[in-house]
Amino acid sequence: MNKPWFDDGNIIISAGGKRFKVHRSILAAQSAFFSDLFSVADADGTNTSDGCQVVELHDSPAEVADFLRAIFDSSFFDANPASKPPAATICGVLRLAHKYDVPYLRRRALAHASRLVPRTYKQFVDRALTESTADTYFRLADVALETGVNWLLPTVLEACARSLIYAPKVRPPVPEATVARCAAGVEAVQAAGDERIARLFFNTTKPYCLPLRVNACADSFRELQGDWESQLFPAAGRSWKDCENAMRSGLCTICFPAMVAKNAAWTEQYWDGLPAMFGLGSWSTLESERREDLRYSNA
Ligand SMILES: [Zn+2]
Repeated sequence: MNKPWFDDGNIIISAGGKRFKVHRSILAAQSAFFSDLFSVADADGTNTSDGCQVVELHDSPAEVADFLRAIFDSSFFDANPASKPPAATICGVLRLAHKYDVPYLRRRALAHASRLVPRTYKQFVDRALTESTADTYFRLADVALETGVNWLLPTVLEACARSLIYAPKVRPPVPEATVARCAAGVEAVQAAGDERIARLFFNTTKPYCLPLRVNACADSFRELQGDWESQLFPAAGRSWKDCENAMRSGLCTICFPAMVAKNAAWTEQYWDGLPAMFGLGSWSTLESERREDLRYSNA
């Protein structure tokens, strides 16, 4: 039996061969789309099964199931941040709440989505950017583009662009147009990564370094440079902070803070430039859009 399925329901929603039996008055009360649809369908009165009207949707059955459960089972897609619904559920509910005009669910899905991505410089450097999988970022990019949620896009598209750089053979689970939008920023991301290496290792005057450490620090610099040239950004599951710790172990007490300062200056500039890399408005514009989207929630 497909869920949700209520034996005393009075409307069947069908998608990709799956059927869901629910209550039309509740669906109509939440969704302007279904309210309109039912009032029109009443007039022609066709397409029924066991006296139940059948509505065929052209959406993914998994997303329809999540969307209907979110409406009919109040514990399934809780507003509580601690409930941490899976990213696939957040994406599916967001897509269909937007498409079928269910504002409270759209807002709730956006509040959950907002917690999946770094939104401040501090969050960006403190957490491992790839703690979500590349697939999750591609799916988020896809649904954010489809629903016009620009404030989710800078860090999401950046994570997708890095996945395209480092795993070019992996086929993202989203339409070509979405991949193209992610790919549009690849060159800028790569150029920024090259600039990081140049700033940290080449435009460097070295008046500092403890006299007895010069050779050891030089060795460490060479090693770091080798690592960071092959991987311009923190590898999967690592954060910018982890990069700092890699420096700490090999550099003297003068070289280390000097490198940290340079890396931080670069990272801050990179963060500030992220929206522009993908043709988006400034962070402050995006943040006001986010606040507007989440107006009645406490995310
Ligand atoms: Zn040194």
